[in-house]
Amino acid sequence: MEKILNYIGGELIPPASAQFMDNFDPSTGAVYSQIPDSDERDVKRAVDAAKEAFPKWSQTPAEDRFKILMRLVDLIERDLDALALAESIDNGKTVALATKLDIPRAASNFRFYATAAMHTANESHDTALNGGTALNYTLRQPLGVVGCISPWNLPLYLFTWKIAPAIAAGCTIVAKPSEITPMTAYLLSELCIEAGLPPGVFNIVHGTGPKVGSAIVAHKDVKAISFTGGTKTGEEIARTAAPLFKKLSLELGGKNPNIIFADCNYDEMLAETGRAAFANQGEICLCGSRIFVERPMYEQFKRDFVEQVSALKVGDPLEADTDVGAIVSKQHFDKIISYIGLAKEEGGTILTGGKQVHLEGRCADGWFIEPTVIEGLKHDCRTNQEEIFGPVATIQPFDTEEEVLGYANSVRYGLSSTIWTENLSRAHRMAAKIESGIVWVNCWLLRDLRTPFGGVKDSGVGREGGFEALRFFTEEKNVCVKL
Ligand code: NDP
Repeated sequence: MEKILNYIGGELIPPASAQFMDNFDPSTGAVYSQIPDSDERDVKRAVDAAKEAFPKWSQTPAEDRFKILMRLVDLIERDLDALALAESIDNGKTVALATKLDIPRAASNFRFYATAAMHTANESHDTALNGGTALNYTLRQPLGVVGCISPWNLPLYLFTWKIAPAIAAGCTIVAKPSEITPMTAYLLSELCIEAGLPPGVFNIVHGTGPKVGSAIVAHKDVKAISFTGGTKTGEEIARTAAPLFKKLSLELGGKNPNIIFADCNYDEMLAETGRAAFANQGEICLCGSRIFVERPMYEQFKRDFVEQVSALKVGDPLEADTDVGAIVSKQHFDKIISYIGLAKEEGGTILTGGKQVHLEGRCADGWFIEPTVIEGLKHDCRTNQEEIFGPVATIQPFDTEEEVLGYANSVRYGLSSTIWTENLSRAHRMAAKIESGIVWVNCWLLRDLRTPFGGVKDSGVGREGGFEALRFFTEEKNVCVKL
């Protein structure tokens, strides 16, 4: 059985404990590879390697950093099919989605930050004095060793979204992918060796959050933590990192509203609303799982949406015509099923879905759930307040803008929101008042990597994307010269 290895100091090595854990294929429920059960000894070794590599890497000309990152882009594109297959097997997502979204985006992340490294500049200010002048210039210097911790839902996509800007900024890295989906990070470490990334610039320690993740966060020589994951884990990380005065970027959970006005472009809205609710089995932090529909359109929407969702094919993620793949783990499967039970207890009516799917053949023991649409719940019940992170959406009618804004903003989260309307003034009015870091008008998950990405309230602190990420991984130093 394949053994994943840590990537430390440019080498692929087993963990200090020599212990490995099982890695499951969610579509079959079977163990298919082994992951290092690393601990703080491996983290220390990785931090030491990153510290050793930092002086040289931080002084490496931007053009050389650019060339290495672009080599990685070429290698990811060369291995697109193999990486997409690996992502699908590890996570349960359809191979079609991994081929179209996850792996191309990983390549784009490296390409984007390779070119950004070539376009960064320092600011300067002329300062007028009484009887003279001074020149202030502000250097942006790489922070040093940084920690990057990522979740399981978009494994390589989100991992590289952190790694690429950190490398481009001149930092060295100790990273931990989710223990549940470590495979493509491992394959990436092989590509880094092939691309000629100097040893120690990027280190991957595989293992659990409590052992490896918390050791990275607590290590005194790790200057910043870039984390994407659940809000509870984010709180724990902040508790450890804050007294150590580390820089923190926290991209956390969401419970995103999708607000549909009766004047919208109906066909576009219907297609995108289905995608927004159920893409990647609903396991995207940006999924629009709370759907609010203006009353005059509610019954028509309900009928068409339920028909559309019931037609989605839940099946083997490796088959080309599968729409909804497997749920990432047994534990997460149980959590989603329990939320469907809770929705019923809270008075919700299941309009479609609501049950486990039993497939035949290869996937007979996999973890599959029908895409589920629920109505009849109030906005403030637990089902509508807590993040389910699965193929479950609720629908609810509304009458006025004020009413729906109240529903939308009633949750502790504030990651993204979607508004469907052809009324331009209303779109701007709503966008200004809605409490979320990202607002999509008449679209969903339309991404431009230059834009700031992140949430408000309990969805996180800080922004990724564009130059924001390069700023995060660097620290300003102002030099004032009296002339
Ligand atoms: P978790 O918070 O459980 O885990 C995220 C990562 O943190 C994993 O690598 C995990 O390791 C690690 N970790 C766990 N405990 C600790 C700890 N004490 N110290 C340091 N690291 C730790 O999230 P999930 O993997 O379950 O991902 C789903 C969550 O991620 C959802 O809430 C979702 O909304 C959010 N998310 C947010 C996004 C955003 O951009 N805002 C994007 C995508 C997802 P291990 O796997 O071993 O537990």
